[in-house]
Amino acid sequence: MGFDGTNCPNCGADLPDTLTRAKMVACAYCESTVILEDDVLRSAGEKGVMAEEPSLFVLGREIQYRRERFLPVGQARFSYGAGWWDEFWAVNGAGEGVWVSVDEGEIAVERPYEIGVTLSPDRLKKGARISLNGETFTVTEADSATCMALRGEFPEALHVGQTYEYWHLSGPNGRLVTLEYSDGEFAASEGTWVDPYLIRPYLIRPENAGA
Ligand SMILES: [Zn+2]
Repeated sequence: MGFDGTNCPNCGADLPDTLTRAKMVACAYCESTVILEDDVLRSAGEKGVMAEEPSLFVLGREIQYRRERFLPVGQARFSYGAGWWDEFWAVNGAGEGVWVSVDEGEIAVERPYEIGVTLSPDRLKKGARISLNGETFTVTEADSATCMALRGEFPEALHVGQTYEYWHLSGPNGRLVTLEYSDGEFAASEGTWVDPYLIRPYLIRPENAGA
C-alpha cells in the first residue's frame, strides 16, 4: 500500500520524491500541475507563466526567520487590484511549513490555522469584528485575487485562473489571520507581518558554519 510512482501523469517526467509530503506539485518539465489524492496522482491544471521578476526569495535557497531556517519549495503568484504578490511555501527541517507572502516590501509569515467556527463571507466586511478561538479580530482588508502561476510544491491544491476572496484580520499583539474563500470553502493561516530585516536569505557566515 501507499504511494508509489512519482511520474507526471501528463508527460511522464520524474516528480520530486518530496511529493509524498506535499499535496500538489507543478511539473518542472511540462505545463501541468499534479495533485496527490488517495495515493493517486492526477493532473490538476496548468501551472501558468511565472514571469521572472526580482524577488527577495527564490525556490531552493534557504531563508532565515528569527532563529529558524526555512527552504522555499513552492511559489504561487496572485494578481489583485494593486498588482501582484507571491506566496512562498517554505518548510523547515521537520517538514513544518509556513507561508511567506511578499508584496514588494510587505512581508507576512503565517502558519496554517484552524478557524474552528463557521463563517459567512457576507459577514466579513472591512471593520467587522470576528471572534476566532476566543480572540477578537478586526477585518482590515477584504479583496479578491486570482492565481496567475505556480512553481514547485504546495500543501494544498491551487489552480491557475481561480479567483479567491481573501481577508486580512488583525488581532491582539500584532497577530494576523488571513482567510481565503473559494468554491464554498475557507482556508486560513495565522501569523504576523514581519519587518523585512528579520527575514532574509540564509548566508553561510562564520558564525553559521556547521549549523
Ligand atoms: Zn509533466
